[in-house]
Amino acid sequence: MSDQKAYKRGLVWLRNDLRVHDNTALYRADRGCEALAAVYIACPETWASHGDGDNVVAMRLRSLQVMQDALAKKHISLYFLEVPTFDRVPELLKQLVEKLEVEALFANAEYPVNELERDQAVRAALRTLRVPVEYSTDRTLIPPGSLATNSGDGFKVFTPFKRAFIARHGDESFAPLPAPSARPQAHRDQWPEWIALASENNLVRSIPKTVGDYGVAPGGRGRVLQWHAGEPAGRKLLQDFEARLPDYEACRDFPAINGTSRLSPYLNCGAVSVRQCVQLALEENGGRWVGRGEGASSWLNELIWREFYQHLVVNYPKVCRNKPFKPETERVPWSRSEKDFKAWCDGETGVPIVDAAMAQLNQTGWMHNRLRMVVASFLTKNLLIDWRRGERYFMQQLVDADFAANNGGWQWAASTGTDAAPYFRVFNPYSQSKRFDAEGKFIRRFLPQLRGLSAKDIHCPPPLESYPLPICNVTESRKRAIEAFANLKL
Ligand SMILES: Cc1cc2nc3c(=O)[nH]c(=O)nc-3n(C[C@H](O)[C@H](O)[C@H](O)COP(=O)(O)OP(=O)(O)OC[C@H]3O[C@@H](n4cnc5c(N)ncnc54)[C@H](O)[C@@H]3O)c2cc1C
Repeated sequence: MSDQKAYKRGLVWLRNDLRVHDNTALYRADRGCEALAAVYIACPETWASHGDGDNVVAMRLRSLQVMQDALAKKHISLYFLEVPTFDRVPELLKQLVEKLEVEALFANAEYPVNELERDQAVRAALRTLRVPVEYSTDRTLIPPGSLATNSGDGFKVFTPFKRAFIARHGDESFAPLPAPSARPQAHRDQWPEWIALASENNLVRSIPKTVGDYGVAPGGRGRVLQWHAGEPAGRKLLQDFEARLPDYEACRDFPAINGTSRLSPYLNCGAVSVRQCVQLALEENGGRWVGRGEGASSWLNELIWREFYQHLVVNYPKVCRNKPFKPETERVPWSRSEKDFKAWCDGETGVPIVDAAMAQLNQTGWMHNRLRMVVASFLTKNLLIDWRRGERYFMQQLVDADFAANNGGWQWAASTGTDAAPYFRVFNPYSQSKRFDAEGKFIRRFLPQLRGLSAKDIHCPPPLESYPLPICNVTESRKRAIEAFANLKL
């Protein structure tokens, strides 16, 4: 077989795929190009307009630094550029490709509307130079939008989506791809250290400590420095989780237990790939997506939920335009109470499980899945505040903020989405608290002022000086929410 490469010089454009192993675009560029470099383009104004907060941006940029170091060991350069907005990217890449004399561009596909538009514009800009652009499926197992119902529509309900996914792709191996092999030192010397581009931004090799208004260094504004960034940290977490996987189903709903993988920040910035997760779970489960080990099949189920929400974004792009999936829910008479919204954000609602969950989010940038459902239901049903405000607050705080999963989760909880919780099923936060944090261990961890209370009192404390009274009566507010949603049908 010939070793001839298709291109002399290729460029990999990295985005939320910050790993050297099992990175489809990097793998294909490595196979296809004699000489290879990578580029990352920060767009802080667009990120801000998408609601990205310090935490997710800090995780992204710190993971990028780790990736740059890993590539440098393989003598592959990673350039860093910054422009304010996505619409400046096509021209910038065009200049870069020309200056570096690149013959092909490789990237992994992204799916929200603005990202798709940017990527199409890049393809068009490089077409004028006759430079091909190859976008690969990498963030998901299969291309979003590729599974359709018998009538040709995108799935709106999870269970049939899952069944179709397993029927059509259940036998695929999804085996991870190898990292590029190290190139000789001379390879790096083929790429200039520094280039002046026509735009005000120049090509820099070291990743700056601040980007736009985002501080990313220790001591910067990001509060998630407790999360070790980058691919090796993500791989270690995945390996550690292997031992806990058999117990996942039994433990996953209890926030005081370390029962879930906590891989979401790594999956989100791409430090870990979904194929690596699937491989681990399928190995544990004898190659089966369902049945056999409860832990592994339950975790695979969650990975299919992740896939499902990415498909929804492609099949129903209106969700990217701030629209509810169910248009009639635009008529819900949402409360405009700033006081209630602030109490929710600050974890001062007087409902301990809600406040402890919000403290977890505000202090660590992450929240347990069961609690995401509880606090989202409390905001949208008990306080009757528009789900989009909660969605945005989560985007600003979460270290794993992902548009598709976040929008899907919020629309599910608010009963405005596809396959959403029926509007009349409103979580009772006190029952959730007693069921999933029976002894109050999680509440005590995040609300030290309640540490002295018994397991009986901690879910609904007696009046205390150090803790607010509940801002709403959950029974009455539940009734109000059900009426508001029921009236939409009239
Ligand atoms: C209101 C709300 C907002 C959410 N916002 C986000 C978000 O911004 N980013 C995000 O990654 N997840 C989000 N989720 C989904 C879920 O809560 C997190 O993925 C999960 O808590 C991450 O913890 P983990 O990595 O330990 O998950 P595990 O239980 O170990 O699951 C493994 C992986 O599967 C995926 N996954 C698990 N549950 C879901 C789900 N319900 N929907 C989609 N993917 C899932 C995640 O990538 C996760 O890392 C949200 C859920 C709700 C209800």
